[in-house]
Amino acid sequence: MLSLVAFAAGVTLAFRQALFDQTEQRINSIADDIQLVAQRNEPFFALGENIPIELELANPNNLSRWASPTVYIQIDRPDGYPLGKSQNMGGVQFPADKDLTPAQPQAFKHGDSDLGEMIVLDRLISVGGRPVVVVHVGETLGLVNVTIGRVEHVVAVTLGLALIAVVLAAIVLARRAVNPIKELTEAMREIGSEHLDRRVHWERRDDELALLAATFNEMLERLERAFSRERQFIADASHELKTPLTVINAHAQMLRRWADSNEDVRKESLETITSESAYLAKMINGMLTLAKADSAEAIPREPLHLDPILAEVLSAGAARAAEKGLALIGPDEYAGNDVVLGDANLLRQLFSNLVENAIKFTERGTVRMSRGHLDGAIAVTVTDTGIGIEPQAREHVFERFFRADKSRTRQIEGTGLGLAIVASIVRVHEGTITVDEAPGGGSAFRVVLPLLAASAAPEAG
Ligand code: ADP
Repeated sequence: MLSLVAFAAGVTLAFRQALFDQTEQRINSIADDIQLVAQRNEPFFALGENIPIELELANPNNLSRWASPTVYIQIDRPDGYPLGKSQNMGGVQFPADKDLTPAQPQAFKHGDSDLGEMIVLDRLISVGGRPVVVVHVGETLGLVNVTIGRVEHVVAVTLGLALIAVVLAAIVLARRAVNPIKELTEAMREIGSEHLDRRVHWERRDDELALLAATFNEMLERLERAFSRERQFIADASHELKTPLTVINAHAQMLRRWADSNEDVRKESLETITSESAYLAKMINGMLTLAKADSAEAIPREPLHLDPILAEVLSAGAARAAEKGLALIGPDEYAGNDVVLGDANLLRQLFSNLVENAIKFTERGTVRMSRGHLDGAIAVTVTDTGIGIEPQAREHVFERFFRADKSRTRQIEGTGLGLAIVASIVRVHEGTITVDEAPGGGSAFRVVLPLLAASAAPEAG
């Protein structure tokens, strides 16, 4: 709107200036005519004849030839004494102009007079180097002003219409932009956290808002999945916690009833309560670790040597392996300078979960940890000769609370959280984990972690 107004003002000003310029040109050329008539006499001057040029110029015939209804002529002597003026001037007289000199012979004056607003050209005419007369040529600006007024009127009306059009267009555009946003806001409000299954159906739109709606839908989808995962987790966790709690409760009641009279019951119940509460503590610890690993930003990571951690895990598992008569074999050699960016406790837990599982699910044979390099990464594999995992169960072993049938039927104790924790820790460390069948039927879990600085070791096999 501002530029429209500025444009209109600019056009009007330029037009006004053009009309004034034209007027000045017109009166300038009349002054030129008068000067030509005066200078026709120059040769006679040169011969020394004293010809009254000023009187010829002031002659009423000449004056009326140059004048017109809007043009007024007056001839003065150089000292300002009036010699004559066109009849249309009546009693009005142009003031004498004494500032003119042969070097600065003319000046335009713009102002009001009794004849109306006019532009007057004052020109000193010299012949043969001698100032002869001062000519005043004036033109009233009445017609010019009328024309300017008309133009201003047209411009003002056009400007007004243009402004109205701009305002209307702005309102329509703003509505168009804002309405869908309102709609979307409304939809978002309705969806809240209760109706995450709802979607905004703007597939037919073909603009940025369609994109916004699609992004919004995607976000809803992710939220819905995350919420349902959380719900599932809470349901599973409650279910898993309930079983040991029920057992503890039952044994506490037995203790109350039989503790004094039956030594066997007392012993058994106390044992069960101790082991079940230890199991509960383990599960709760596991859940806490999962929660911690899931909020990746909260975990501070630092450059760590991986080998000491692997060695620690192996020595921690040695006793349990020996108890079961298993061979626990570590890497052939430690290069000692593989550095990963990580959290030492979480990495320890990651490998110790794998080694513990391998020992737990193996009755006879070997548990082996091997390591090797890939391009910019290190691969650590834990292989066992144990019961193995059915192919269809393999894709589920990293889910929370998942336990394969084999381990359930064999009554091997476990929370089903160990591998979920492993997967979370691997994710936090930007690594990958896979499980395969080991030669001979056992399992092979392979973890790949990005290295900060790799030693010159042979390629991983
Ligand atoms: P938990 O060991 O406490 O049951 P995990 O999450 O560690 O829970 O493991 C999930 C399931 O994956 C186990 O119950 C078991 O069925 C299977 N599993 C894990 N590691 C092995 C392994 N080394 N050999 C065979 N089965 C395994």
